[in-house]
Amino acid sequence: MKLLEERIVKDGIVRDGGVLKVDNFLNHQIDVELLNEMGAEWKRLFSDAQINKILTIEASGIGIACIAAQHFGVPVVFAKKARTKNIDGETLSTTVHSFTHGRDFDVMVAKRFLTPGDRLLIVDDFLANGCALNGLIDLANQAGATVEGIAIAVEKGFQGGGDALRERGFKLESLAIVDSMDPKTGSIEFRS
Ligand code: 5GP
Repeated sequence: MKLLEERIVKDGIVRDGGVLKVDNFLNHQIDVELLNEMGAEWKRLFSDAQINKILTIEASGIGIACIAAQHFGVPVVFAKKARTKNIDGETLSTTVHSFTHGRDFDVMVAKRFLTPGDRLLIVDDFLANGCALNGLIDLANQAGATVEGIAIAVEKGFQGGGDALRERGFKLESLAIVDSMDPKTGSIEFRS
C-alpha cells in the first residue's frame, strides 16, 4: 500500500536491533484517517472471505482492529496480556514472546468470545518473528475457530515470521513489507 510505505519513509525511524519506530502515526500518536484507508484496503483484499470477528492483541493492535472492523461490520476481540479480575468465566490462554519487551507474556481471551463457529480475521500492527500471531492462532485453534486471514500493517520481511506463516497456508496480507532497513542511513527497502 503506497500510502503506508510513503508514511513509513516520511515518519518512520530505524533503530538498532531491527526495530522500526512508527509512533508518530501508528503506535502512540495515531493517524485515524490512515487507519481508515488501511481498513478499506483489507476489506478489498479479504472481500472473498466470510469474516464474522476480528481478533487482535493489546495494546497497539486494538485501534487498528477497531477501525478495520467498521469496514467489515464485525466486532473486535482482543487478547489481554494480564489476568485481570474483570475476566469472568472460563478463559483460553497461551504464552507469547514479545519482540519489543524481550520477555514472555501470558495472553488470554474469555472462552465465550471465541467460539467454534467463528471465522476470524487476525489483525496486528507489526509482524516480525511471528510470535504474537502464533499466539493468536493458538487461541483460535483452542476455541475451534477458523482463521480466514491475517491482516498486518507492517511486516519486517527480513525476520521471516510472515514467510513461515505463508508456507503454512495462511492468507496473510501485509500492507507494507520492509525487506531491509539501515539504522545508520535510515534507509528502508520495501518488497515490491
Ligand atoms: P513478533 O511477535 O512477530 O516477533 O513481533 C510482533 C509484535 O512485536 C507486534 O505486536 C509489535 O507490537 C511488536 N513489534 C515487533 N517489531 C516491531 C518494530 O520494529 N516496531 C514496533 N513498533 N513494534 C514491533
